[in-house]
Amino acid sequence: MSELAVKTRNGVARIHHRPTWAEIDLKAIEFNLRQVRRHIGKGINIMTVVKANAYGHGTVEVSRVLQDSGVDYLGVATTDEAVRLRDHGITAPVLVLGSVLPAEVGIAVEKDITLTLCGDGLFDAIRKETKDGRKLKAHIKVDTGMGRVGIWHEEAMDYIKKVSSEKGIILEGIYTHFSNAGRDDFFTTYQIEAFEKLLSSVEKNWIKIPLRHAANSIATVDLHRAHLNLVRPGLVIYGMYPKYTFPKIIKLKPALELKTRIVFIKDTPPGRSISYGRTHITQKHTRIATLPIGYADGYGRKFSNKADVLIRGHRARVVGKVTMDQTMVDVGHIPLAKVGDEVVLIGKQGSEEIRAEKLARAADSIAYEVVCGISNRVPRIYKR
Ligand SMILES: *Cc1c(COP(=O)(O)O)cnc(C)c1O
Repeated sequence: MSELAVKTRNGVARIHHRPTWAEIDLKAIEFNLRQVRRHIGKGINIMTVVKANAYGHGTVEVSRVLQDSGVDYLGVATTDEAVRLRDHGITAPVLVLGSVLPAEVGIAVEKDITLTLCGDGLFDAIRKETKDGRKLKAHIKVDTGMGRVGIWHEEAMDYIKKVSSEKGIILEGIYTHFSNAGRDDFFTTYQIEAFEKLLSSVEKNWIKIPLRHAANSIATVDLHRAHLNLVRPGLVIYGMYPKYTFPKIIKLKPALELKTRIVFIKDTPPGRSISYGRTHITQKHTRIATLPIGYADGYGRKFSNKADVLIRGHRARVVGKVTMDQTMVDVGHIPLAKVGDEVVLIGKQGSEEIRAEKLARAADSIAYEVVCGISNRVPRIYKR
């Protein structure tokens, strides 16, 4: 295979000549969602988080599958991500998890996008945009210890009263976010207790807020107390584990594989330096293969001299600095390796597997950063 045809809904759209691509298994996403559903039990809503191009997997394609699987809500980071979903025919409820500026209220009302409220800055814009009787759907974000957007939990009650008495707002939800779930049980318990306390004062004040949520992937898997009536998983939906002990609790299938092909190989004597900065010097006679992928594709410089790739079912180490468009690997121990061979950077080949979580750890990063860093230059091929 020397070219990649990427299909869109209306036929073949783009031909890619460079053999570097990501394969997205949409069935794996459906599988992971079913696993999460089974794990949390009945009666709890699911908001799947599809921000950052669905963690690199492709927002529109992934959201369509999730919508067809009946998720209750989609979570995005920005108004633009939400508008993109609407413009591609996604009708499921969409919440923007970030804080927005007044200029974004108009489009949210127009496209039925739910906004996060956590301050007074939007009230004028909301009144103006809802003068004609339309409404803005909103969730209030409460800060119980993340120190990011959100109204401090001690000050939240007055704010909730104010929002709930605004004519133009449908107050549909209230939520908080954990800063160290799965790692600091003491602090996470403090956060959930502060949130529960606030929810009970909301009830005492006869204010009804239908959706109450706190759980990211870690809390969805490991902290039932935080499920409330909606969970908000991202990472686990894509089949990655946020904690190395989780494979014992829930079975997930990684949905993304990152692949390329060897485009060049040469015999290399001892003492030759490989790539910029000469950080690798060959110790013996070997063969060095060049792969057409680099940091402009999201295969970061942090993988230099640290990551492995799979070739003919064997591991091969990245040698020297990853460059913008090309990466070298030592294939001296794989005598059959030749130009054109498929190379797996994330995923399975034979009995070997490179998981994004492990690749991340080797490079002092996290799986989140590895997958959402895969750039637009890498075509996504969807498997059903
Ligand atoms: C990204 C995000 C999530 C999802 O987090 P995961 O760890 O990927 O499950 C949930 N809630 C908020 C507010 C987020 O920003």
